[in-house]
Formats: sequence, C-alpha cells, structure tokens
Amino acid sequence: MSPPFSAALLRWFDKHGRHDLPWQHPRTPYRVWLAEIMLQQTQVQTVIPYYQRFLERFPGLSDLASATMDEVLSQWAGLGYYSRARNLHRCAQLCMEKHEGSLPNDQALLEALPGIGRSTAAAIRAQAYGERAAILDGNVKRVLSRFHGIDRWPGLTEVNAQLWTLAEEHTPHERIVDYTQAIMDLGASVCRRRQPSCEACPLTDGCQARQLGRQAEWPARAPRKTRPERHALLLWARDSRGRSLLQRRPPTGIWGGLWSLPELSLAAADAPTEVDLSIWYHELGIQALESKALPNFHHDFSHFRLHIHPLQVLVKEGGSLAEDTSGWFSPEELEAIGLPRPIARLLRTGS
Ligand code: SF4
Repeated sequence: MSPPFSAALLRWFDKHGRHDLPWQHPRTPYRVWLAEIMLQQTQVQTVIPYYQRFLERFPGLSDLASATMDEVLSQWAGLGYYSRARNLHRCAQLCMEKHEGSLPNDQALLEALPGIGRSTAAAIRAQAYGERAAILDGNVKRVLSRFHGIDRWPGLTEVNAQLWTLAEEHTPHERIVDYTQAIMDLGASVCRRRQPSCEACPLTDGCQARQLGRQAEWPARAPRKTRPERHALLLWARDSRGRSLLQRRPPTGIWGGLWSLPELSLAAADAPTEVDLSIWYHELGIQALESKALPNFHHDFSHFRLHIHPLQVLVKEGGSLAEDTSGWFSPEELEAIGLPRPIARLLRTGS
C-alpha cells in the first residue's frame, strides 16, 4: 500500500512542505524531542517563539536537567498543559542518569520516559535518527480516517489499532525524515479539521472522504459528554507594599507546580459566608482590612469548566509563611515565576 500514498505525499512535500522550521536545522534528538512535546497540543505558529526562547535558556539536555522546576515552568507559562513541562524536566534528568545525557534511539526505552508515548517516540526515532517508524498524531489520524473512510471514533481501541496498522503500512523505507514531516504538514495545512483543501491534496484520487463528500464527518466524533462545571473563589490578598500572596499548587493536577492565588472551592455559584472567610483568613495568616469582589470569569480545562470568583483583599503586613509552598511576591518578582495564564492576566489587569 505504501508506494503510491507515500510517493504522492513526498512529491507534494518537495514543493509545498515546511522545510525551514527551527527544529529542522540542526535536527538533533534534543531539539526534535522538545518540538514534539511542544507540538502535542499546540500549533506550529504558536510553538515557534516559545521553542526559540526555551532553547536560548536551555540549549542542551543537561541545561534543562539542572534547571529548577520554577525556571522550566516560567519558560513554559502560556503554552498550557503544564504536565508537559514537568515531564520534560523529569525526562531530561532521567536521560542524564540512565542514558548518558542523550535521548535513547529505542522505541521501548523512549516510551518508558515521562511524557513520551508511542507516536512521539516514533517521531523522535524517525526525525532525529532516520529510523523507519510510523507516527500517529492527531493530524495523521485525521488524514488516514478520511483517506480510508473510517466510520468510527479513533478513540476506540480497535479503531486506534486499525489506524496504527495503516500508518505502518504507509510508512516508506526511504526518506523517512521527509515523509514524517510531510504527513504532519498535510494534516496541518491541507487536510485541516475544518474545510480541507482537497483540490490541493496529493491524496485526492484515492481518498474515500473526498469521493463520498464526507470530509466533515470523518474522523468520527467522540460520544458527546457534558462538561462539568466547578466554582472557586480566588483570593487576591495584597499588603501595603503592593505584594500579592501566592501559593504553590501541588505537583499533580490542574496547574500542577505553578504558583497561584489561594483557592476556596465553592459548592456552586454561592458566595461564601463571613464565617467561611474568617476561618480561611486565619489559616492563611492574614487580617483583612477591606475587600472587593472583582468580575467573575471562567477558564476551560479539558475535562471541566472552572468559574472563578476573584476577591481582592487589602491586608495588614503579611506574616511569615512556609516559603516553599507560599509567599508574598512583588510585581517584579511575579515576572520571574510560573503562573497560570488566567492568574497572570488577573494580577496584571484585575480581570
Ligand atoms: S482529499 Fe481532502 S479529505 Fe482526502 S486526504 Fe486530501 S485533504 Fe483530506
């Protein structure tokens, strides 16, 4: 099955593919891995400036491994899905400890590292080491689902297995680096999720979706679930020196390891009582002088929507705190730490 599919794709890539992405020059394992992790949930144009800044700060695996988690998270802040940054850091440390300071060229060893799944491991092997290894990221799933007219949702185990088989059959024995980039590029720029440009596609002749006019239906959607909603009060306590009280979030879970405002879960959109707040203030070691509710806003996580009710409180001089998990930060100090994007915006603009 491979030659017509891959040959058509490679011919198209020579003319229309992306040949000047920063991770292509030079294409070292470290640079390819970093790009693959950043690209997992983020588009190329968004990734490029983050990628370049990250590489300036951490030019090699050993620089990343020896950095603090705060330094890594502050470079990552804004890209979202922060578990990727935590895994990147841990992965760099494991490569220093177990793999002589490099990413291994072995599927099983790569998949054993944090944050690297089957497709990412294959992309590293193909792009950094020139090995014949099939990838199956979201773009490739879309192209293959449409080309082969696969009617069921790719998240189902058997459909996923079928897509892997097809991905392997299409992967050529030569020009693996270019083919891997080509199929990613085709999914990103031609076989887009909405309004694919079938007239410009090199696969148009054999494509089931094109022949049947079913591009909008494939890949099939996941069964619909309603997104749960949660509410939380975020306390923006400021002292007379203009410093804000922040707490470091636990290492796992949403915004894991980042600094954020103290948070009180609410049962619903109801305001907390005076008693709730005074107990909480006592636990935080603050004495409120005056308070003001700021406009509510929401933030969508992949599995729920968080309604945020910010409360700004002017406090007497903040007391001493357990410094590894909480602290008072001046506006200048806020610039140097990893903050979730909605929290950084709230602290900057008040909304
Ligand atoms: S012909 Fe259209 S639907 Fe089929 S692979 Fe190409 S862009 Fe996608």
